Parts: sequence; C-alpha cells; structure tokens
Amino acid sequence: MIQLEIDSRQLKAEPGTTLGALFHEQYQEAFRLGVAARLNGRIVDFHTPIRDSGRLELIPVESADGLAVLRHSTSHLMASAVLKLFPEAKLAIGPAIDEGFYYDFQVGRPFQPEDLEQIEGWMHTIAEENHQFVRGELSREEALKRFEREGEIFKTELVQGIPDPTVSTYTHSFFTDLCRGPHVPRTKMLRHFKLLSVAGAYWRGDSSRPMLQRIYGTAFPTKDRLKEHLQRLEEAKLRDHRKIGAALDLYSVNEEVGGGLIFWHPHGAAMRSVIEDFWRAEHARRGYRLVYTPHIAQVDLWQRSGHTDHYREHMYFLEADEKEYVLRPMNCPFHVQIYKGHKHSYRELPIRIAELGTVYRLEKSGVLHGLARVRGFTQDDAHIFCTKDQVETELRGVVEFARFMLSTFGFHQYQVDLSVRDAKRKQDYLGSDEEWEVAETALENVAKASGLNYRRAEGEAVFYGPKIDVKLTDALGREWQCSTVQFDFNLPRRFDVTYVGADGHDHPVYMIHRALLGSLERFFATLIEHYAGDFPVWIAPVQVQLITIADAQIPYAQEIRTLLLEKGIRVEADIREEKMGAKIRDAELLKIPYMLVLGRKEVEERSVSVRSRKKGNEGSVPLDAFVEKLVAEVAARV
Ligand SMILES: [Zn+2]
Ligand SMILES: [Zn+2]
Repeated sequence: MIQLEIDSRQLKAEPGTTLGALFHEQYQEAFRLGVAARLNGRIVDFHTPIRDSGRLELIPVESADGLAVLRHSTSHLMASAVLKLFPEAKLAIGPAIDEGFYYDFQVGRPFQPEDLEQIEGWMHTIAEENHQFVRGELSREEALKRFEREGEIFKTELVQGIPDPTVSTYTHSFFTDLCRGPHVPRTKMLRHFKLLSVAGAYWRGDSSRPMLQRIYGTAFPTKDRLKEHLQRLEEAKLRDHRKIGAALDLYSVNEEVGGGLIFWHPHGAAMRSVIEDFWRAEHARRGYRLVYTPHIAQVDLWQRSGHTDHYREHMYFLEADEKEYVLRPMNCPFHVQIYKGHKHSYRELPIRIAELGTVYRLEKSGVLHGLARVRGFTQDDAHIFCTKDQVETELRGVVEFARFMLSTFGFHQYQVDLSVRDAKRKQDYLGSDEEWEVAETALENVAKASGLNYRRAEGEAVFYGPKIDVKLTDALGREWQCSTVQFDFNLPRRFDVTYVGADGHDHPVYMIHRALLGSLERFFATLIEHYAGDFPVWIAPVQVQLITIADAQIPYAQEIRTLLLEKGIRVEADIREEKMGAKIRDAELLKIPYMLVLGRKEVEERSVSVRSRKKGNEGSVPLDAFVEKLVAEVAARV
C-alpha cells in the first residue's frame, strides 16, 4: 500500500492506482480543484499510475502548470481534428507554449484559413463527445513497431530518441499520440480555444529536414479569459511595429539589399537622433567617455577574445590583403584596446568607455523580425573598468541610469533577472571564487536597494560572469529585454587588462559590460509598439504640421517653418491644393502632435489655430505664445 496526503486527508491506495480511480466518488469535485497534481515535485495527471507515497497538491487550471496541461490537451484535440480532415497527415510534436500551443504536421498542401475554421469545428465536435484521455504504456519496441506500421515517421524518430524501456501514449476517441502527459481527464473540459495562425517550421528546427506546417492556437479555462486574450492579440497586431513603421514611413528593410538590415527613413532617423543626442548628453554628464571604433578587425583579435571559438556561426568574415577580417559582432575588444592604450593608475579608475556601436550578427533568416530581430544593429554599449571597491557604486550608478533613461521614455514597470552561477558546478566558470562573490553580492545588493522587483536565477549566469537583465513592461503588459549589466572575468584575462595599484603592482580590473536601451533597433520597435505610433511630443518624428487654407497663407507658413526649425522643432508644411479637411485627416493619420491651421485671420493677427492631438481644438493662439509653450514642452520631455 502507498500513503497519499491530500488537503490534510490521508488516503491509502494500491501502488499503480490513478488519481482518477482515487477520486472515483468525488471525481467532479476534483476536476474543479485541479486538472492534474504534483506528487513529490513531479506532475501527474488523473491517468498516471502512482507508485510512490507522498503529498499530493492539486494543480488548479488557472496556474501556469494548469494552463499548460489544458493547452497541451487542446493540441491533441487539434491533431485529432486535423486527422479527420487530412487522414494522410503525419504528426510531429504538439507542445504547450507561453500563451498557447502548437502542433506540427506534414501534409500535402499548406493549411488555408478556411482549413483552420473546419479544424476548429471538428475540435468542438470531438470535445463535446466527452472522450476520456486514456493513458497507455507500450514497450519501446512495441511503440516503434506501431508507429512504423502507421507510417508515422516523425513519431518513430522520436521513440528512437527515448532511452526508457517503456513509453506512454494518450488516447482519446480514435486518436493516439506518443506523449509523456499530463492531460486533462476528459475532452469536454476543452471548450474555450481558438486556432490563430499557420507557419512553416522545419522538423526539429533543422533546415535540412522536411518543412512542416505548424498550427498555432490558444486555450483558456473560461470564455471571458479567451475573449480578453484575443482582444489583446488584436491590439498587439494594430501596434505591430512593422505595420506602424510602414504607415509612418519610419524605416524599411529591402530584400534586394539583404534581410535584417535596416534603412532608417527621415522620420525614423529624426527619432533616432533625438534618442542618440539625449543618450550622449546623459552619458557625458555621468562621466562616461564617448568613443568611435572600427566596424572590422583582423581575425586575430577575435581569436584572442575567444569569439572565433564560441561565436563563429554568427560572424561575417571578409578578406583583404590576403588577411582575414571580421565584421564586428561586439564592441568589447575595441574598448579593451582603448583602455590598454596606456597604463592606468588606480587613481584614474573607474574608467567608463561608451559607444553607440554598430555590430553585425549572422542570424538565421527564418528568425528575422522587423526591427526586433536583425542582422545589423547599434548597441548603446559601455564598458566600465574599475577596482573591487568600486564595483558596487558603479553598479548602483548603472541601475539608476537605466531607470532614468527608461522612465524618461515612458516605461515605469520592469522585471529584473539576476543570473548567478550554479554553486555546485564552480569549476565550469571562469574567474576566481572571490571575483564571483564580489560580483554576485554587489549585483544582489544593488537589485535589493533599487526596490526593483527581481528574480534570482541560480545557474543562469554565463561562464564568464554574473549579470542583471532588465525587462521593461509595455502598454500591453508584454516584457521586452533592454538593459543588461554583466561582469566579465574572461576578456580581462585574455587581453591582460590591469591597473597599477597603490602598491605599485599590476592588478586585474573588474570589467563590466552594460547597455541601457539594448539595441537602438529593438528599442525603437518597443517604443513604436508601446505608444502605437502616437509618440510624446519630444520624440515625435514630426512635431508640428502647418496647414494652409489657401495659397495666400504660404508665405506665412514658410515664415513659421523657418522660425520653428531655428528653435529645433521638427516641422513640416502641407501647402498642397487639398481641402483643409483632407489635410487635417492626413496629419491625424501620421499622429502628429500639433497641427497649426493658417487662414486669413491668423495671418492678420500673427496667430495660429492650434489642433492638439491630445487636447483637441485649442482655438487661436498668438504665434509667439505657442512657440514658447512648445519649446518648453519638448525640453521637459513629457
Ligand atoms: Zn500529450
Ligand atoms: Zn561588452
């Protein structure tokens, strides 16, 4: 007999019994409480034979684990519906993912939107039939025989990769899938789901293997939560930076030139200038020294830095003068070169070297995505060289700086991840015990003192140093990775980076990599989606649109344009022969913060008729008063 404790009730059971059998009487009640359970840290569902004693905790469907069970079960339901319509389809895998699930199929032709509707229809039919999910166990050989017989080539390959002597299957209705589980008890629990999209996906993500059809979907425990999620997806689609980027003429990617290489158009470039000018001024104010460094370097540098060993597949190689060069994937070795230009006394430290450094990384073409995943991008990079005693002060400065930058751009919620080493595998990390302790303690102290919400991730540090990553939360509650602060115990050793201490001897420096915005390209995507293109005045690509009612006002418009340009305001004049209404509509589509309508009366009074995007029609205002107010608003970065 085994002993199970659940909600302080003690149950005795035969080994091999299932929760389903155990809750025989109160089956319905158990469903309400949970879709599966955790036993001694392992997730078991209502079908898993239980062989050990322990404490059972029911997993509510609303929890992250519960949602994953629900969604993965829905992926089985979808696969069965696909087989109803496409009996020849071959099945690959169907996991739960962050906000839903997918399943990969090999079929004769790509799925169409109408197919998704039909598949969804069948899913509802099968779900309503209320089949039980039945768990089965097969020996590895039986499973191989079975899937081979059925021509399920992908399943066969999966079983071949499983070392265990037995594998489990889950069956509902006519459909059986190779699966570890867990699953919900019955198909009727799957009611609130939606199929979302289809995409091509290589089997095992390998471009030399067959291209499969992946159907994405999502599922929730209630109708309302599904509806809310679908609305959020719609909203995200409207905010898609690729769409807004095109509508506002901010940037483009030209496939003829190459994927993942960004053209910043005048409107996007104007915004980038604002970001860069602000960034440079704030760095100078905080004692950073700005540098420019080359975009290429001989391969020797990258051998010494270790990049050719660890990063080769992402690097672009070129040849000149029978020498091999590399298009830089990172700025760090260059800043090290500048630091090493001469010897530094401890009195000079900390030295902070910053650069808006453009780097190139060879990303797979399949993962490129607008501004968010590119092959050429500019990091707002800096490297801090300091002594052990300065580490904590420097980190505090960086975190304060990051928050200042992000909040100025309108982000006020962050998630901080502190990645430390796995204390049980110390030998796998570079650097001394002391260095790691100093760095991790300082990072944690700073994270605590900052009042930021942080997660400590044991064993998540890379081999050369611990780090803090800051993810900001946007208007839709989505997280975007931006700031990062990372110790490096590798480069200073490889490049022999030292300072002269008070004792007259050389000592290794503490080297910190940091970026606040991350990459300008991705940060720009974040800004666009956060504001849905409706930018605050200080960053808007065009701050003022002048609208003439008739040709008689063109000289006045030109005069105002010159005046505003002199004040550093980004202004454009619409002097087309269009009706005023059409001009206003066009400016509204471009989400321009201020329109100044100029008619006969305005010319006579030297005034402007102001239409503010935020406040609506503000009526006639003296020109000088408007300019003064606008300049103050831009300077305040509100
Ligand atoms: Zn499954
Ligand atoms: Zn670096």
